[in-house]
Amino acid sequence: MPWGRTRTALVLRRTARALLDLVYPQECIACGAGLPRPPASFLCDDCRDRLPLIGPWQCARCGDETGPFAEGASACRSCAERPALPFRGAVAACRFEGPAREMVHRLKYSGDTRAVGWMAREMALRLSRAAWAAEVEWIVPVPLHWSRHLSRRFNQSQLLADALGESSGKPCLPRLLRRTRRTPAQVTLDFAARERNVAGAFAARHPDRLKEKTILLVDDVMTTCATARECARVLRAAGAKRVYVAVFAR
Ligand SMILES: [Zn+2]
Ligand SMILES: [Zn+2]
Repeated sequence: MPWGRTRTALVLRRTARALLDLVYPQECIACGAGLPRPPASFLCDDCRDRLPLIGPWQCARCGDETGPFAEGASACRSCAERPALPFRGAVAACRFEGPAREMVHRLKYSGDTRAVGWMAREMALRLSRAAWAAEVEWIVPVPLHWSRHLSRRFNQSQLLADALGESSGKPCLPRLLRRTRRTPAQVTLDFAARERNVAGAFAARHPDRLKEKTILLVDDVMTTCATARECARVLRAAGAKRVYVAVFAR
């Protein structure tokens, strides 16, 4: 084959590969390992095996994983140790560790949205097992401060809430809550500091529309419950009848 044609073939092959990489990202979303082309999943086999999915034994109140023999709120360590929660119930899809933690970080800090649909489906699966899910009228994501929303260009909680809204047919209303001040990331703080960090950081926008409504609050991660607690408190103070919570990781 003449040199010119070999070179053209090489350039074409490289261009095709670059285009394929754009369409199908090649790395595992959690560990960065190479994936087969086209990838069957956004996770490599190893990370899929290590996914810390929460099974059927979950505290109905806070969504934390409990043992198979736990019954009642006192059996949940988180609920026994913490003040009462202003929300009625919660579900979580994964423990916040291993590939689940990496997936959340890739979504939040790199804008890698490949896993959003799957994350929302895992949340929806757990919602379908919760007796209260049918009561939910509106879905409200935990808001970012406008300046953080502007720099990140999206709110990861809203992406999850939108997907849950689409699959359930319930309206997602991201503007009912707003974050009134920019707060340091909760991950850097201990329990008491997290509570202080979010105290008074949220406000309800349309209290008239919240009256007597049952709200599903959606966030990507809930660890100490400080953010969800404060959002639920504000929603209840504005007149919401009940607040429930769905998060991807706990
Ligand atoms: Zn992996
Ligand atoms: Zn609990």
